[in-house]
Amino acid sequence: MKAPVVPILIGDLWTEPQVTRFTAVHQPSSGDVIARTPMCGAMDVELAVVAGSEAYPAWSGAPVTARARVLFRYRELLEAHFEELGRLVCRENGKTIEEARGDVRRGIEVVEFAAGIGHLAKGEMLPQLSEGIDATSTREPLGVCAGITPFNFPAMVPMWMYPLSIACGNTFVLKPSEKVPLTVNRLAELFLEAGLPPGVLNIVHGGREVVEAMCTHPGIAAVSFVGSSSVARRVYELSCQHGKRVQSAGGAKNVLLVMPDAVESVGEAAAADPTIQAVMASAFGCAGQRCMAGSLLMGLGAAADDLRDQMGAAIDDLIVGDTVADPEAGMGPVIDGGARDRLFTRIREAPERNTEVVRDGREGVPDTGFFVGPTLFDGITPSHDVFAEELFGPLLGMMRPGSLEEAIEWINRIPYGNAATIFTRDGAAARRFVREVECGMIGVNIGVPAPMALFSFSGWDQSFFGDLHVQGMEGVMFYTRQKTVLTRWV
Ligand code: NAD
Repeated sequence: MKAPVVPILIGDLWTEPQVTRFTAVHQPSSGDVIARTPMCGAMDVELAVVAGSEAYPAWSGAPVTARARVLFRYRELLEAHFEELGRLVCRENGKTIEEARGDVRRGIEVVEFAAGIGHLAKGEMLPQLSEGIDATSTREPLGVCAGITPFNFPAMVPMWMYPLSIACGNTFVLKPSEKVPLTVNRLAELFLEAGLPPGVLNIVHGGREVVEAMCTHPGIAAVSFVGSSSVARRVYELSCQHGKRVQSAGGAKNVLLVMPDAVESVGEAAAADPTIQAVMASAFGCAGQRCMAGSLLMGLGAAADDLRDQMGAAIDDLIVGDTVADPEAGMGPVIDGGARDRLFTRIREAPERNTEVVRDGREGVPDTGFFVGPTLFDGITPSHDVFAEELFGPLLGMMRPGSLEEAIEWINRIPYGNAATIFTRDGAAARRFVREVECGMIGVNIGVPAPMALFSFSGWDQSFFGDLHVQGMEGVMFYTRQKTVLTRWV
C-alpha cells in the first residue's frame, strides 16, 4: 500500500493537490516511508496567495487584542498537544524525543512572544514636532508574507516565522521542507482550532518550483527563508529582484574553543566535566544537524590532548539508536540515505586528506535507518577543505591553534558567521573572544548560544542575507513597515 499523500491548506480546506511528483517522507530511524509530499507548483502558490489576499483586509483590520487572543488560545492548544507534537517531530525528523520536545518548546516561546504584539508593535508620538504640528509613527503590516523552512527543526523554524508575521496583521503562505511536512500540518490544524480565520495561514508543499513561485509572485510582500547558504543566497537575490523584503538565513561552521583552564585532566571527573558535556551536546545533539552545532573543536596548547581523550571516552558512552522505539537513545539518525552516504564519504576520504579518524561513525551503528555515529577527526588545519565546509552531521574536527590570537584569526577566516563559543574561566580571554570574533552569536561557556524567542537569530556573513533577522524585535520590524503621520489642527 502506498503511503498517504500530505494535504495542502488553502483557506480552511485541506486538499490533495493534482500533482504527478512526490517526495517520500521517511521515518529516519527505521527507513520506512510514512507519507508522500506532493511537489506542488506555481498554480498552488497562486491559490494560496489569493486566499491570503482575501483574508488580509479583515485580519489586518482586526483589533490587536482580537489577534492576540487567537495567539493565546493557540498557545494553550500547543501546550495541550505538546507531547503529541514532540512525537511527530521525533518520528519524521529522527531526533530524540527530548530534542523534539525542545524543538516544540522553542516554537511555543515564539507564540508567547508574539501574543504580546499589542505592546511590541506600538508606535511613537511626538507632539509639537514643529509649530502646531504633531507627529505619529506607527507600524503597519505588509500584506501576504511567505516562509520557506529546512528539515532540521520541523516545529521551531516554521514557528520563527508565521506566528509573529500573523500577529503583526499579515497573512501567510508557508512551504515547509518536503522531508518533514507532517509537523507543520498539525501545527496549522491547531491554529485553525484556536480560531484563526481561514486564509490567514496557508500551506503549500513542494520544493524548488514552489519556492521560485513565491520569490517572484507579485502578491507576496516579504519572504522569510531558512536553509543552506546556496539556496538562501538564491532566494535573497530572486526575491530582491522582485521587489520583496527578504530575510534569508543560511548554513554555518561553528567553532568551540576550549582554553586549558576549562578542561579537567582525564580521570574520574571526566564524564561529568561540564565542558565535555557541552561540547558533546553541541556537536552531536540532533545528530549534528543544527545550524548552531559545534563543528570544529579547538583545543589550546597542552589541553588539546586531554580534550581528545575525554571526547573519545564520552563518544564511547553515547548510545546511538532508534529514537522512536527507544527513549534511552542519546543520538538519533540523520535525515535520509543521501545525508548518510555523504557523511560516510567524508569519513572514508579523511585519511587521504591527512586527517586522523579518532572515532569512526561508520562503526557500530544500526544498519536499518539512516545512522551515522559520532565521529571525531584530528589534525584539521585551515588549509583542509572541511575547515570551512558545513558537514551538517555528527562529524567533529579537532584543531590545535597555538594561541588565543591564532584561534580567533582562524575563526575569522571561516566565511560563515553564525556562532562561536569559548570555554574558559578567564574573564579577560572571554572578553577578547567576544570582542574580536566576527560572528553574530557568541557563547561563553554555552555550547549552543541560540538566542531563543526574545532575541533575534543574528547570523552574519554567509549565514545570513538581508537586514532584519528572524525572531525578537528585528522580527517585528521585518513583518511591519513604518507609517509617519504629521497632523495640524490649529
Ligand atoms: P535546504 O537549503 O536544502 O532546504 C531548505 C528549503 O529550501 C526547503 O524548504 C527546500 O525545499 C528548499 N530548497 C532546496 N533546494 C532548493 C532550490 N534549489 N531552490 C529553491 N528552494 C530550494 O536546507 P535543508 O537541508 O533542509 O536544511 C539544512 C540547512 O539549513 C543547513 O545548511 C543549516 O545550517 C541550515 N539552517 C540554518 C538555520 C539558521 O538559522 N541559519 C537554521 C536551521 C537550518
